[in-house]
Amino acid sequence: MIHQSYVSLIGNTPMVRLRRFTPQGGADILAKVEWFNPGGSIKDRAALYMLRDAMEKGVLDGKVIVEATSGNTGIALAMLSAYYGLKLLIITPETVSREKLKALELLGASVMLTAGEEGTAGAIRLKNRIMSESPERYISLDQFRNPMNPLAHYYTTGAEIIRQTNGKFNALVVGIGTAGTGVGCAMRVKEHDRGITVIGVAPKKGVVVPGIRYPYDEEATEIYDEKYFDEIRWLEKDDVERIRDVIKEVATKEGMLVGWSSGAVLLAAKEASIKLKEGKAVVAVLADSGYRYLDEL
Ligand code: PMP
Repeated sequence: MIHQSYVSLIGNTPMVRLRRFTPQGGADILAKVEWFNPGGSIKDRAALYMLRDAMEKGVLDGKVIVEATSGNTGIALAMLSAYYGLKLLIITPETVSREKLKALELLGASVMLTAGEEGTAGAIRLKNRIMSESPERYISLDQFRNPMNPLAHYYTTGAEIIRQTNGKFNALVVGIGTAGTGVGCAMRVKEHDRGITVIGVAPKKGVVVPGIRYPYDEEATEIYDEKYFDEIRWLEKDDVERIRDVIKEVATKEGMLVGWSSGAVLLAAKEASIKLKEGKAVVAVLADSGYRYLDEL
């Protein structure tokens, strides 16, 4: 089969059983490998849905798309903007990895950096200022509010997980950034089987894990709603070293190099696997690969 565009490769990512990483006597850990998306992360899905929606509504109208993002949404939007011939300005904290920055530039996006210590919130504040000062020039897809963000996962990620497992799994573990993945997948899998436990993984206030964030922070995500999650695995400062160990473990046992948020998701998936025991299954959604963070791992 020959695909007719690179962006049409978004979605339909593989799922793999982590036979060696699964603890003895624990439930199977099934990984949904989201870096197989063409932009290298799960955010390709939300970016495609948000952008298509804006194009269909005709609201882009020659404007520059401006988005605050820790990186993966930026790369996804840069890939799609290049393909569709749209102008894009990405605002991201200066702590963004060099690889991500280089990728954004090569894909033709303009980039503005904000102070690292302000985190994503600082980038969001600058974006809001630009939007309010020049509303005639800029448009924001606003991933923290856009309903197309969770809907992308309701229609694609969640549906794929049910199809790939034949609907037979007991827990779903996802990282929380905008919460688009978690809310969209939760809506879909709960519709299929209310008994599936949805576990969100998020850092506590002040704990830094790239790609995921404390949902009640300043400039909170409006998509996040605790009613969609049966449990939240709050990450403490001590967990950062545990995440690094998990990343090393899955790399050496499975040959699979995962990113920070995926390491956190696998840490929570392992805990759930031990609790659920043999004969059950835990699906872990792995947002991006470790190749995006080689300088930080
Ligand atoms: N992991 C990584 C590496 C990400 O970039 C993101 C998105 N910021 C997430 C997890 C969380 O995804 P979502 O925004 O759908 O909650």
